[in-house]
Amino acid sequence: LVPRLQPFTSTIFAEMTALAVRTGAVNLGQGFPDTDGPSGMLDAARDALFGGANQYPPGPGRPELRAAIAAHRARYGTHYDPDTEILVTAGATEAIAASLLALTEPGDEVIVIEPYYDSYAASVAMAGATRRVVSLVSAEGRFALDPGALRAAVTPATRAILVNSPHNPTGTVFTRAELSAIAEVCVEHDLVAITDEVYEHLVFDDNEHVPLATLPGMRERTVSISSAGKTFNCTGWKIGWVCATPELVAAVKATKQFLTFVSGGPLQPAVAYALEQELGWVEDLCTALAAKRDRLTKGLAEAGFAVWPSAGTYFVCADVRPLGFTDAAELAWQLPERVGVAAVPVKVFTDHPEGWNHVLRFAFCKRDEVLDEAIERLHGLA
Ligand code: PMP
Ligand code: GLN
Repeated sequence: LVPRLQPFTSTIFAEMTALAVRTGAVNLGQGFPDTDGPSGMLDAARDALFGGANQYPPGPGRPELRAAIAAHRARYGTHYDPDTEILVTAGATEAIAASLLALTEPGDEVIVIEPYYDSYAASVAMAGATRRVVSLVSAEGRFALDPGALRAAVTPATRAILVNSPHNPTGTVFTRAELSAIAEVCVEHDLVAITDEVYEHLVFDDNEHVPLATLPGMRERTVSISSAGKTFNCTGWKIGWVCATPELVAAVKATKQFLTFVSGGPLQPAVAYALEQELGWVEDLCTALAAKRDRLTKGLAEAGFAVWPSAGTYFVCADVRPLGFTDAAELAWQLPERVGVAAVPVKVFTDHPEGWNHVLRFAFCKRDEVLDEAIERLHGLA
């Protein structure tokens, strides 16, 4: 393996899930739901599978899916031409990688906000670019963006910024003010923004998902990325998409076509159906997830953790120090054996582990009885 990719030989999700399986632990590490998506969507996939949709779909994605994505994005007030401004990808993961491969090259810098989803660092490295990391700061009970730190990270070599909101692993949903600060920096320095909006529907309480592309000056410089996995409980389907200008979409398509060419043929019409018909189901999912967040937050607090509030996603972060631990990673590796629960240490998603040593991420996208079992086991830590 070439040196620049040597830090990326395995993923924390694969390792923690393997450990959870080996020890019989309740897996609150890797974020995936333990129930299926809407049955109408599953029916649509079966119909497509038995209806002959089993050969290569068109390169940009099936037309009905691109039309459904355009209609879905239009809910935010942004309009994309399904023929030239939308590209279907193998999940958001491929969309992110293809965007970085298409838009950055060796010598370019990409601003990444930490803690960051693990594929970002690997994809920046695959493109041969360099990441410049800006840390979220714990402020007023949430993890917030520091606009000064963002500005300080820009150099003449900066080409792009990767923005994930709702944010994995912290559950932060960026406010309009935070997004405006990002937009200002992008416009001022002529940067491309690559947004990861896979949790766009999983936003709780009074929080609101604001796509960065809806801010002034951003429509033309933002590659907006999302996917079906989190919205419709189908993380294994890997149907994602890109919305951007024709020039940006053409660039991403140029790399995407030689990564996978196409994928998920019979699943594409099912996701089109879901985007058009199942947003009511998604609202119910979101309500249920907010209650699960509350359930796990309360349970973790009772077990002795200090828990940060989560405004969205599948995740809550917890401070292990009140329980007498200092190193959350060490604890995470022991936790499955010790009490039978798996979680993920947040420092593995950072370049500055010092600030994140004490933080553990727990997933709450599980059935209530699974959460209750995990909570009961975690009481054994005190
Ligand atoms: N971005 C974030 C922030 C994620 O949490 C995930 C994983 N679940 C992905 C991207 C990957 O999305 P997909 O499965 O659509 O590739
Ligand atoms: N997105 C999921 C998480 O953050 C896991 C995805 C993966 O396993 N690569 O837990």
